[in-house]
Amino acid sequence: MSDKQVLGYASLSVGEPCTSIFYDPPKLGEFDVRISVTHCGVCHTDIQAIENYYGITTFPFVPGHEIVGTIEEIGSSVEGLNEGDRVGVGWQGRSCGKCKWCLRGETQLCMEIENTTVMVPYGGFSSSVVADSRFVYTLPPSMPSEVASVLMCAGLTVYSALQTHLESRDMKVAILGIGGLGHIAVQIAHALGCEVTAISSSREKKGQALGFGADHFVDNNDNNSMQELDYSQDLLLCTANAGFNWESLLMVLKKRGRMVLLGFPDVAFNSTDLVAHELSITGSLIGNPKMMREMLTFSQEYDISPMIELMSMSQVNDAIERVKENKARYRIVLVNDIHNIGD
Ligand SMILES: [Zn+2]
Ligand SMILES: [Zn+2]
Repeated sequence: MSDKQVLGYASLSVGEPCTSIFYDPPKLGEFDVRISVTHCGVCHTDIQAIENYYGITTFPFVPGHEIVGTIEEIGSSVEGLNEGDRVGVGWQGRSCGKCKWCLRGETQLCMEIENTTVMVPYGGFSSSVVADSRFVYTLPPSMPSEVASVLMCAGLTVYSALQTHLESRDMKVAILGIGGLGHIAVQIAHALGCEVTAISSSREKKGQALGFGADHFVDNNDNNSMQELDYSQDLLLCTANAGFNWESLLMVLKKRGRMVLLGFPDVAFNSTDLVAHELSITGSLIGNPKMMREMLTFSQEYDISPMIELMSMSQVNDAIERVKENKARYRIVLVNDIHNIGD
């Protein structure tokens, strides 16, 4: 099996659309598994990586890190997984295993982070990927594959941020940006028992945001409505990548409130309110393997249901355009058309 060429959809240079390539299958390490990809979600960070926004992309670059598929080959030291298992893998496909963060189980902070993504050497917009089995997750049997794929990055990212920063379940949480991450953040915060305010510049998302479990919806371009939120929120999760009026956003926080960035927006603000109200601003990156397992169980129990558009993997460039134009509602999952797919 492992001598079979892999079909991938690669961007060949910065900002270029994806084109189909065949590449040699990466070697399988003793802890690795090879996964035949059935589904892969399209995340905003795939697009930023194509654009080399983080400055670490090497080309040809095959994106894709919300992966679900079937194990087709296992390394000699793999435990607990077998050929034929349906599994998921997210942004992190391995870690150094030796640095202080890995030793603490906080593998998402691995000191060798640029080597930890499943997209090195090639990501999930492929017929198969290789990942370290310690970052590969068995899925609840009744969870549809497209749902599981979206949870691998978007679900983990918002669940981990909420679990890390919520001090009590009666906190008031605002979610900025109702997109791939935000619409799941609303569902999870609601399931946790929080009073949830969805903040978005897309008024037409109001009905769906309330349907996802938001108690309130505020248009962030409406200054009066934004002012009514002043000093009301314990936590503000920023899931959007666009530019915002950050000073008016900081105003929604109670004193000692916390803003958590999940995307990678450009941020600028005057520090007066930050200091005077003793606010905190922090970031949150995906989550560790323990959090991933917890998130899968939680999502199954509370029926967290991402809203998904299915497209064929060969339509990857159309999918990327829809995400760029903010048209995806709310996550696109690519289905691998070269296999006979069955959940
Ligand atoms: Zn992602
Ligand atoms: Zn490490």
